[in-house]
Amino acid sequence: MTLSKQEMLNNYCLETGKALNNDIEKQVMELFALSSQTTTIEEKINKIFDEFSEEFLNAIDTNTRIDLDFLVGNFSDSQIPVQPIDFESYLKCLGNNVVAHSINTSSPRFIGHMTSALPSFVRPLAKLMTAMNQNVVKIETAKALSFCEREALAMLHRLIYNFSDNFYSQHIQNNLSTLGILVSGGTVANITALWCARNAILGAKDGFLGIEKEGLAAALDFYGYKGAVIIGSELMHFSFDKAADLMGIGTQSLIRIPADSNNRVNIQALRQAVVECRAQNLLIIGIVGVAGTTDSGGVDSLFEIAEIAQEANVHFHVDAAWGGPLIFSEQHRHKLAGIERADSVTIDGHKQLYLPMGIGMVFLRDPYMATAIEKQASYTMRKGSFDLGKRALEGSRPGMALFLHAGLNLLGLKGYEFLIDEGIRKTEYMADRICTMPEFELLAEPDTNLLIYRYIPEQLRELVIKKQLTEIDNQLINQFNERLQKIQRQIGRTFISRTTKTTTSFSKEIPIIALRAVIANPLTTEEDIDAVLNDQIQIASEIVISNFQKIV
Ligand SMILES: *Cc1c(COP(=O)(O)O)cnc(C)c1O
Repeated sequence: MTLSKQEMLNNYCLETGKALNNDIEKQVMELFALSSQTTTIEEKINKIFDEFSEEFLNAIDTNTRIDLDFLVGNFSDSQIPVQPIDFESYLKCLGNNVVAHSINTSSPRFIGHMTSALPSFVRPLAKLMTAMNQNVVKIETAKALSFCEREALAMLHRLIYNFSDNFYSQHIQNNLSTLGILVSGGTVANITALWCARNAILGAKDGFLGIEKEGLAAALDFYGYKGAVIIGSELMHFSFDKAADLMGIGTQSLIRIPADSNNRVNIQALRQAVVECRAQNLLIIGIVGVAGTTDSGGVDSLFEIAEIAQEANVHFHVDAAWGGPLIFSEQHRHKLAGIERADSVTIDGHKQLYLPMGIGMVFLRDPYMATAIEKQASYTMRKGSFDLGKRALEGSRPGMALFLHAGLNLLGLKGYEFLIDEGIRKTEYMADRICTMPEFELLAEPDTNLLIYRYIPEQLRELVIKKQLTEIDNQLINQFNERLQKIQRQIGRTFISRTTKTTTSFSKEIPIIALRAVIANPLTTEEDIDAVLNDQIQIASEIVISNFQKIV
């Protein structure tokens, strides 16, 4: 009979008995002690990381070529080791199996994702944050960081809404006010915004205790609605599906309005939808404007949506998770005109504020709006306290505010303006390049720093120019681009993502597979952009059409 790994280890423990227990105590306590070992461990970790980034910078990466089945095989052990493993061996395993097969998100030629490159102050601050291990759920475990967080959020609130000095001195550190809520990302920010909107509109009244206490069915019944909806562009992020689901209205009650060819919501259709919902006695919880769609960077006409929302007296939420930081740019801020009329605004810190993963924010025009979601607990979150957890979806939460506060101070208005302007300038450069290259077709004029385009195989280029593509031709181009993007990702020298856009250029709606560039990395140069496009041309030249047509 052969013993399993676990059984062998268990036997071993039984035999060696007490000696081993003492050993464990020593090993565990060592892990908690501040020892000289920490520095050697850190040195080793730095080395692993440096090797990781260097591989990518030199584009000698081999790891993206490793297929996923292989990785799955590396992580198929469901048993926890009985004995602690020593750090050296564990680090080796981490380096070989995890770090080596991760994605270097700050590589200048990986311009297809929204995960930004990080400024150098992030790493040392991360160490400080983890070492301090504050929990901003409540004052008792965070103290100063709670106020630091409120200050950073107020700074961005001011950039959006630009209320008076008086307003900010009244609310910035007033425990009854909430100018913004720091969350883990845009998803939670969007959910929180609509949660506030829902609870505020279906609040307590005439003996009814409010939706918070009595639930959605009772609330709709009390207020006399047949149902409730959320309205926005068809290009809304899928976090709104999550919000509609959690809010109890169902994803079918998320009304998605068609967008035009520039990826902006059709205002006429939006207005019409509001009228129809009214006629059907449906409560509109919120109207959503998107400031930078995830797919293509399109910015809705926020000013016009604000008009519609105001006329209908409905909560206006702007999802500016991606495009919000345009507000730093004098040159591009006008694209967000109307954002200052929003009741709530989502901005992601871990996208265009160049901060690490795990920072999203929702800003509230009315500093008292978040009372609609406030909860108390007797052991903590007392009324009148500064405990940030009482008006938030999340409970325990790390001190990510350190990064936000640092970013706003260390980069400043001008620093962020530079980053935004540069990204858009380089995207325009790429759009110009694409327009002059016969190999490519630009699919939409960029609003921000996202660009969608596609490769056109040589034999179809004439038809594209003459606008004579058939649906079959289009399918062929779609499959070609899908293939191109997959091969490019596999080879791993450069990276562009892929998305699907619908077009009505044919008599019916058909999908177009698009290549999607996101240019936000300040380290990306024009030369890198050329290199990415040339890499695609090179790969395309090796896709043999006769082979390829078999796939079609
Ligand atoms: C990224 C994004 C989100 C979701 O944000 P997460 O931080 O990924 O949760 C929502 N809306 C838009 C427009 C986004 O770009």
